[in-house]
Amino acid sequence: MFDSVNPARPADVVGTYPSRSGEDVDGAVRAAAAAQIAWARVPVPARGELIAAAGAVLAARKAELSALVSREVGKIAVEAGGDVQEAIDMAAFVAGQGRAAWGETVPSELADKLCWTTRAPIGVVGMITPWNFPVAIPSWKCFPALLAGNGIVLKPSEHAPGCAEAFVRACTEAGIPPDLLQVIHGGPVPGAALAVHPGVGALSFTGSVRSGRSVAAAAMETGPRLVSLELGGKNAMIVAADADIDLAVDGALFGAFGTAGQRCTSTSRLLVHPDVAGALLDRLVERAGALRLGDPQDPSTDVGPLITEAAGQRIAAMVEVARAEGASVVCGGRPRTDVAGCEGAVFYEPTVVTGVRPAHRLAREEVFGPVLAVLEVADLDEAVAVVNQVDYGLSAAVYTRDVNAALRAVAGIDTGIVYVNAPTIGAEIPLPFGGTKHTGNGFREAGTRGIEQFSQVKTVYVDYSGRLQRAQIDNRGPS
Ligand code: NAD
Repeated sequence: MFDSVNPARPADVVGTYPSRSGEDVDGAVRAAAAAQIAWARVPVPARGELIAAAGAVLAARKAELSALVSREVGKIAVEAGGDVQEAIDMAAFVAGQGRAAWGETVPSELADKLCWTTRAPIGVVGMITPWNFPVAIPSWKCFPALLAGNGIVLKPSEHAPGCAEAFVRACTEAGIPPDLLQVIHGGPVPGAALAVHPGVGALSFTGSVRSGRSVAAAAMETGPRLVSLELGGKNAMIVAADADIDLAVDGALFGAFGTAGQRCTSTSRLLVHPDVAGALLDRLVERAGALRLGDPQDPSTDVGPLITEAAGQRIAAMVEVARAEGASVVCGGRPRTDVAGCEGAVFYEPTVVTGVRPAHRLAREEVFGPVLAVLEVADLDEAVAVVNQVDYGLSAAVYTRDVNAALRAVAGIDTGIVYVNAPTIGAEIPLPFGGTKHTGNGFREAGTRGIEQFSQVKTVYVDYSGRLQRAQIDNRGPS
């Protein structure tokens, strides 16, 4: 058994959960596979109605669930509410897809013949999720996979088992068969067992590059299967010389220090033109220094705790490396264990580091903490080149009043998501979410992509002519 604790007060145990073994994973996969047979026969719109009902349960419990998110992973109250709202929105969107197009039809090249595609379930889908969107990310994966007719084995983060349980309970209370949606608690051990289980037809992983690569390599060894990876980011915001500086400061603060920088889409690089660097930094440092660290459930708190003590050590080490490489910490730069009302918690001060060069580690590696690296760039072309210099490609933002410059940046930036005059955070449900390069392996979640990811295309030809007709040979018309 293991305890899930409140990162703001680790003595507060949120719940105690079983650390599952490979044998338990096997039992869960078998149970989900058995339940999936009946589920695959439920008409798609009826599956959608149950997903809509799950969304209604989540909406009715939004306050309670948001408080749990805040308590279990340390998100401040408004952000915890956003996490739950994403799941509610995803339920509404996916439920609607249950009555939308399910394939394509094309005219046949032959008379009296029909051609179309439809979607078939994969079977059992394995899911491994991170702690930082503990309700939203399970919903991004589970709702589309359920609509597509699959059974599920979900292995949530060992830092957020309570949120996963609450999400699954909302689904089963809404009428989704409990055996269809299995939850396996624990860390890498059950995760790795799920990744190599031969009964799992597709595996969907969200987390760090390191864990994702090990999961994908292991999964491939047991045979061909579909493995989707949503991994880390090193997201940049470009601020051009003509940008609205106050707007850019608002965006940088929310992007860099929201969720204490523990988002895959957090802004971790600020690429600023030298003409506006001074004014921008003065305002940014003043406002970042005034952000209030505290209990995430207290409405006056701006920045909550880090998820673990180890996260604090990792962030502090990255800032030390930046100092050693010649950069300057102009705001923050210290772990804090003395925040009132948060005994035993580890925080990290909102930190701004200037004088960072593209080759520095702080400019290339994901920190996953409230640390913003500032780099000066001479013009838009250099800014785009620096954005693209990293191994990651999740999200980027450009702040400018020049529409031509904005669209040139959108065209040149190699990331899965680009924002104009908005921070690197702010994805909406109906559009695809995901990244290029090492951020993933080409898949996208959300929008209709989730349903595509969790289903298999079946192409169907029906010839009602009553005679043999040969494609590419007969009925070619006058030659
Ligand atoms: P993590 O990689 O430590 O853990 C993620 C999940 O993988 C957990 O459930 C964990 O138990 C499991 N796991 C870890 N090692 C494993 C192994 N060897 N085999 C099987 N399972 C294993 O990540 P985290 O700390 O929970 O989340 C933070 C990371 O996730 C950051 O890098 C962040 O950028 C990334 N993230 C990406 C997205 C995205 O959509 N691209 C979204 C959120 C978070």
